[in-house]
Amino acid sequence: MVQEVKQYRIGVLALQGAFAEHINLLKHLPDVAEVVEVRTAQQLEDPSLDGLIIPGGESTTMALVAEASGVFEPLRKFVQTKPTWGTCAGLILLAKEASKTKKGGQKLLGALDVSVNRNNFGTQIDSFIANLTIPCVGEKPFACFFIRAPVITYINTETVEPLVQLDDGTIVAVRQGHLVGTSFHPELTADDRFHRYFLQVVRECQANV
Ligand code: GLN
Repeated sequence: MVQEVKQYRIGVLALQGAFAEHINLLKHLPDVAEVVEVRTAQQLEDPSLDGLIIPGGESTTMALVAEASGVFEPLRKFVQTKPTWGTCAGLILLAKEASKTKKGGQKLLGALDVSVNRNNFGTQIDSFIANLTIPCVGEKPFACFFIRAPVITYINTETVEPLVQLDDGTIVAVRQGHLVGTSFHPELTADDRFHRYFLQVVRECQANV
């Protein structure tokens, strides 16, 4: 029997930040039928949206824009059950808790049972690339771009699985069922293995319902 290849509709939150880079990578993946620039509540409430990427950028700004455009609550609902991957600022937004937030704190979606430390390595000039082996994407090291990156300082070990750690044990990528979070930016490379991994998460989640 020939197995039908599912063609996914994947959204990228396009309110602020590095969404264009994710879109470019996704467009080239064979399993992706359509890439949607997500800006409205309606798009998030559409059941045909199979998964979402929340890009890097500035998490405080992204949360403010999401609120101002009426997208924050629909987003909170979406990430409770639907496959979502947050990169960098997106990881911060997904987290339950963040430190070094702006005065008065910042709004988080609170779905991923982790704490993150924002701007862990310093400012823009402290950006770096680390070639890390990430077992879930294969043996070949992956070029990880850290740009004003957060790290994960706490995980609920019952629900959250670390996907990769730095040499000193610092966790920089995690999975919690339908959610994935990375401190770094796989969309800034031509290496599409992490995007393929996210599609695998989408596939697994759909198989489990
Ligand atoms: N430092 C940013 C924040 O706190 C994240 C940086 C990034 O996404 N590259 O939102």
